[in-house]
Amino acid sequence: MSILLGRVVVITGASSGIGEACALAFVAKGAKVVLAARRAQRLETLVDRLGAAGGEALAVATDVTNEDAVANLFEQAMARFGQVDVLINNAGIADSTPAEDTPLDLWRKVIDTNLTSAFLCARAAIPIMKRQGHGRILNVGSISAKVPRANSPAYTASKWGLDGLTRALAIDCRADNIAVSVFHPGIVATELGGGMSSLPDDLVAQPEDAADVIVHMANLPDHLNFYEALVVQNKIPFLGRG
Ligand code: NDP
Repeated sequence: MSILLGRVVVITGASSGIGEACALAFVAKGAKVVLAARRAQRLETLVDRLGAAGGEALAVATDVTNEDAVANLFEQAMARFGQVDVLINNAGIADSTPAEDTPLDLWRKVIDTNLTSAFLCARAAIPIMKRQGHGRILNVGSISAKVPRANSPAYTASKWGLDGLTRALAIDCRADNIAVSVFHPGIVATELGGGMSSLPDDLVAQPEDAADVIVHMANLPDHLNFYEALVVQNKIPFLGRG
């Protein structure tokens, strides 16, 4: 029986792509899910779909860069389910702008969405998880936290920062039985940055592939931490020359 049965999973960026696929995959394991993103209608449609599949889900329209909105997300989750066992910090935006063309507003938007959001959600989740005596926080990083694309200073910095935040939280939270980990996807066929539709099938993963890994990382006994995972297309030039 899955440890996720009956557990409550908060998923940010659940209105599309990897987050949406995670919602379906966690519900398939018997978890209840709390869906956060800005596009409320998409979340409600997903709640209906999960309900039809026998799952329990709550949609909370949330801008994860907003401190009050994040506080509301966790208040709503607790009011409905009374616990938060897993947090998936998945919300993110892409950016491909060279440094000299990046206005400060854009820099801040990327850092706020991809990094500060994870801090805000973790900060809200940790006291809840401490009281419960267990918890798991999984951040969705990127292959860009290992090998950046050209012309992506803000995105790259946000994902390297998220990597650092993951390790810092993993250390600070372990005494309270909260496992903090990071999953770095390669190229996933989602709406991110306008979509990857032009790439051949064997150069992309599907959102379900990423969700399978995330669920696998979360589907462990509470005293174990699958700390880090990186999934790359076998044919992309990541591992080295030749
Ligand atoms: P999508 O664009 O499909 O999903 C991004 C999600 O983030 C959406 O649900 C969006 O919802 C949400 N989001 C964006 N900004 C905010 C915000 N301010 N507040 C709340 N939610 C927000 O892309 P992916 O599924 O691909 O992206 C998920 C994660 O995976 C991201 O962190 C991304 O960096 C990472 N990743 C993706 C890769 C890929 O190739 N696709 C590769 C490596 C990493 P809404 O607009 O409704 O708010």
